[in-house]
Amino acid sequence: MLKTGEEYKQSLRDGRVVLAADGSHVDDVTTHPQFKDAVENIAALYDMQHEPGLRDVAAYKDEETGELASRAWQVPRTKDDLVSRRELARMSTYHTLGVFGRPPDYGSFNALGLLSVADRIANASPEGASNIDDFIRWGRDNNAMSADIVADVQSDRSVPTAQKPGRLRSVEKRKDGLVVYGAKPCASVAVQAHVGTVVTLLTPGADPDANMFCYVPINAPNLTLVAREPVVNRGTDLDDHALDSRGEEPDSMLVFDRVFIPNEHVFSFRDPQMLGLYHELGALALWHILARLAYKAEIFAGTAQVIVDVLGTENIPQVRDSISEIAAYATALKAFVLAAEDTAQPANGVLVPAERFVTAGRLHSVENYPRVLQLMREISGQGLISRFTQKQFEDGAVGEMLREFLPGTGVSAEAKNRVFNFVWDLTCSANAQRVALFENVNATPPSAMRARIYNSDYRQPWRDFVLDRLGVDIAPQNR
Ligand SMILES: Cc1cc2nc3c(=O)[nH]c(=O)nc-3n(C[C@H](O)[C@H](O)[C@H](O)COP(=O)(O)OP(=O)(O)OC[C@H]3O[C@@H](n4cnc5c(N)ncnc54)[C@H](O)[C@@H]3O)c2cc1C
Repeated sequence: MLKTGEEYKQSLRDGRVVLAADGSHVDDVTTHPQFKDAVENIAALYDMQHEPGLRDVAAYKDEETGELASRAWQVPRTKDDLVSRRELARMSTYHTLGVFGRPPDYGSFNALGLLSVADRIANASPEGASNIDDFIRWGRDNNAMSADIVADVQSDRSVPTAQKPGRLRSVEKRKDGLVVYGAKPCASVAVQAHVGTVVTLLTPGADPDANMFCYVPINAPNLTLVAREPVVNRGTDLDDHALDSRGEEPDSMLVFDRVFIPNEHVFSFRDPQMLGLYHELGALALWHILARLAYKAEIFAGTAQVIVDVLGTENIPQVRDSISEIAAYATALKAFVLAAEDTAQPANGVLVPAERFVTAGRLHSVENYPRVLQLMREISGQGLISRFTQKQFEDGAVGEMLREFLPGTGVSAEAKNRVFNFVWDLTCSANAQRVALFENVNATPPSAMRARIYNSDYRQPWRDFVLDRLGVDIAPQNR
């Protein structure tokens, strides 16, 4: 049940229809220049499942089958399960250096979120609820990678939601399933995933035919993935770039031109109680996003220390302050993650991290993300610009002088150059900006998180304490 990297690549040669940015129809995403580096990056994660030292992190012995299966599909039932899943998030984040927001271990969370509300789904559709169990089993048995198909296409806001031309909706209800038409945007990693889970969680006011929760194989007939343009420039010498040379997570818009979704793939359809469950159903996914950012922040803090060490700027108090701020960011994010796990509650047999800490933690993570990037740029100085290619270092007398003039503290000029190529990829490159954009909105923007926090009632006792201490009585407020 555990694929190797080669088997993962083979599984992507399945007839999927992908329209690349250069206008070509992609025959094989594993060899196409726009996608192959990213595919290799994830293929390495599949191989890591077989490495003796990492197998315990990546896999678990499944009780039902008695076989080793990917932990990515393990249903977290205890706190230890959550901790193990977080360890897997750590492994994938350290491997991709945090620039894949939807690594294979993330993909099951829409399904697990649905499982956490399956009792309610069963009231309207017992078949839908049992399809969730079957899908999780299928994902586990196939070591599958799933993309989130959540957001709605951006179009004229003056048009009512239920009339938007691009909304994904059922245009034909058949005995054996739905025929769907429309589009879903920004599906990160879908190009190199096996399936996508479609959920209607960001669409208050969706019409009944657009209120659907289902999954769709990426190679489904009549489904086209329109990939966004790449941002990593393969035309430049990337060999010495530890990050950008390993590709970028592809995002694409899924265009459904009357795609058939069989009944067995449908979890919920036309059930009004499902709209508005974003935070409840998304709690596990949002916890993973926060955990990944916490591990990424460790990489930021580690990188900041390396910058200071190679430049020998450690004794400058203001530089130390920057390092401390980045380290405190990493520690704060970890604290939010641990608090969310510590106060997790079971929901329908799934242990769900506490949303209160997840939402506040995510707000903190995205608000401070640009500041952390800026601090790293600040402590780098000209290092981010005075970088040269390997070919320039090999250019006879000039190369020799570059080596003579540019060494760092305890490192050669070329090693220092490699460090700053990495810092560039992490904080300045086009891919770094794309990733920053992703972190800001991939799971609702900060404004929505603030609104969510305001609408929570956990601060009520704090307010009552203050009023009580002051002896002030005020009329109950309508919030
Ligand atoms: C790189 C990248 C990768 C992504 N990957 C995925 C993915 O894998 N799967 C997926 O489903 N989606 C993905 N997304 C999409 C993401 O979910 C949406 O961008 C996000 O939910 C915001 O929705 P929108 O872009 O439609 O914004 P719009 O609804 O067009 O709104 C634009 C802006 O207006 C403001 N705004 C609008 N409505 C509100 C509101 N109710 N409260 C507060 N502010 C508001 C916000 O500032 C918002 O950013 C990705 C996005 C990016 C940039």
